[in-house]
Amino acid sequence: MLSVMPVAAQRYTTVPITPAANAAHQTAFTGDIGFGEWFDSPDLAVRGVPFRIEMGERDIVRLGPGQTCEVPLPGERAAALHLLATGGYLATPGELRADITFANGAREEHTREIVDWNYGARYPGDAARTFEPTAFGGAGKTLYAYRVPVRRKSLPLQSLRLTAGDRGTFIIAALTIEPVLTQEERLAPLPESDLGILVEGDDGPITRFAAEQLQLYVSLMEGKRPPIGQADRRTVHLRRDADVSARLGEDGFRLAGEGESLTITGGGATGVLYGSYALLESQGVRFFMPGEEHEVVPKREVSLAVAVVEERPDWARRGITYYPYEFDEPADWVDFAAKTRLNTILFHAPAPDWWEREREMLNPELERRGIHIDFGGHFMPGLLPRSLFAEHPDWFRMENGERRADYNLCPSSPEALAMIAQGAAEIVRRNPEPEVFSIWPDDLGGGGWCHCEKCAELSASDQSLTAMNAMARAMREVRPDARVVFLAYQDTVQPPTRVQPEPGVVLLWAPRERCYVHGLNDPSCPRNVAHARALEGLLRVFDPAETEVFEYYLDQILYQDIVPTLPQTLQADLAYYRSLGIKVVEPLMVSLVPFRSVLANAGLSAGLQWDEDADPQAWLRDLAGSYFGDEDVSQYFVQRETALRPILSRCYDGIEVPDDVASTRRADTERSFVQEFPLAWGILERALLRVPGADQRQRLLAERAGLFQAVDHARALARP
Ligand SMILES: [Zn+2]
Ligand SMILES: [Zn+2]
Repeated sequence: MLSVMPVAAQRYTTVPITPAANAAHQTAFTGDIGFGEWFDSPDLAVRGVPFRIEMGERDIVRLGPGQTCEVPLPGERAAALHLLATGGYLATPGELRADITFANGAREEHTREIVDWNYGARYPGDAARTFEPTAFGGAGKTLYAYRVPVRRKSLPLQSLRLTAGDRGTFIIAALTIEPVLTQEERLAPLPESDLGILVEGDDGPITRFAAEQLQLYVSLMEGKRPPIGQADRRTVHLRRDADVSARLGEDGFRLAGEGESLTITGGGATGVLYGSYALLESQGVRFFMPGEEHEVVPKREVSLAVAVVEERPDWARRGITYYPYEFDEPADWVDFAAKTRLNTILFHAPAPDWWEREREMLNPELERRGIHIDFGGHFMPGLLPRSLFAEHPDWFRMENGERRADYNLCPSSPEALAMIAQGAAEIVRRNPEPEVFSIWPDDLGGGGWCHCEKCAELSASDQSLTAMNAMARAMREVRPDARVVFLAYQDTVQPPTRVQPEPGVVLLWAPRERCYVHGLNDPSCPRNVAHARALEGLLRVFDPAETEVFEYYLDQILYQDIVPTLPQTLQADLAYYRSLGIKVVEPLMVSLVPFRSVLANAGLSAGLQWDEDADPQAWLRDLAGSYFGDEDVSQYFVQRETALRPILSRCYDGIEVPDDVASTRRADTERSFVQEFPLAWGILERALLRVPGADQRQRLLAERAGLFQAVDHARALARP
């Protein structure tokens, strides 16, 4: 974890923790404990972080179970908040929730484990300072410094809400803001390392960024800063090579170490970047989720004695779909995408102007990672303003003999098509970066299309494709290579039969109603067999080499925040999609709440896109060992997955379930709750008993909270 980068003490901002608004929480210690006597001075430092404690008896926050307080924050950007806090009367650690609100209204949530003030000796790994207040007869009481990393580092702060868990009493004595530093500022205090990074030939933005990433992570590992641009006792050479490009592709790379020197040769600049991450991974560095707190960075000297490694991705395009949410930093997902060797992001936005608002911040981050952009959302209905209905009812769809201004449009109306085509062209004009546009119809299971006389013969798929063809013609007048997708989703998963795609219309396959317990081409799952048949029909109409897949492995709305792990489904699907000659798979990441459970499908999906034959169980064992500090936690994923299978199964959705299948599923569902879920919980508890470090402990506690959430939501799904 990247928590201990030195920051010059004067750069921190200390914030009063007890504004008038907290009066309710300021009285408990008066005359009781003698809090003011704990400290010799209002200023102290814990592990290099300065804190300022208001010395008055009432100048602390005390929160009983479930209580909340609100602290205004200065309008500056932050890398992290540091709390000087302790929990009283806790037999086991309790939980304190920190909700940060930013100046633009965005929020993010963090939960920290807080330990008892008497237990300082039990948690020597935690940053702490023990005091000996006379009120306790000189007995030691310990305050701990907790670092809460801020995800939205680009936004000014506004306020912090602290909420105590359901037991214990928390004292929050001081609050300090850690500033956002540039990499140069961050590494400046470190001594220079004897490892040099040399960029040979090309020094475009992607190669330069690769050198900077190596510099950052080597600094974090060794505590010394490797200079860029000079050889030293140990040297990493970064270069590109036409032969490697021919053999391994632009994204492929070769690592070759010899003594104190190692060369990373990329086919292209992106190959140099992925090779740099591969070198770090060979040293134990791991990127499991977006955000520094989810990265694993061992403290040790980097060894350049790496045997020759050559890698070439199975998929030339590797993707993810990102939906912006208020507690999330999109730049972190861009960063995570490159670290997991993804090169395509579909930004699925709530409104057509989203990219215009974000591009200034995100575009440089995407460019220096060589990432391609797709962009869109359910924008089509918005291109035909409903206010036109009174004047032009025939532009709108017909239902039961009446025109309606509710969904989509009448695709037999040339005027309606011209209207949306003009809007689509405007979207291309305003958004120069995206390559493929999604201008989807309404998000409906069915019933949003037209039943007028002219449309009567056209299926939903035919009607949707008619609209996309009209938009593609206008979009390509603005930019000849612009593409728009035909969305095969819900009522449009069946192939169009009367309309053919025109140039610039490509397929986006979004099988949201499929079953995720089984691979899409698993013959034992009738639901998926029907979907696979529809897809293969679509690929007789659309060019597979231009086809994109919008999958749902990371969609926490679909999974109701259960965060399942789907190693077998992912592996089977990706092999099947690749066998069909499809261009790219872009699983949708969307969640309504911050993640508690680790989102293993993100790393699994990226890893299997790079190497179809990678062993997902080995990946989960590595996650267990590196992220949770206990390889046995890999069994937790096995138990959890077994528990979720009967609950997430959709094999017979819309089909009569055979009696024997129904009774087996009932029995399996019951066993999930009495056997596999409890076993999964037990594995986490055992790991908590022997966990080595504070970071792993936090992750295990978060995972346990995620498991409890999954059990609650699974019960709701499993009820008949
Ligand atoms: Zn019509
Ligand atoms: Zn199934």
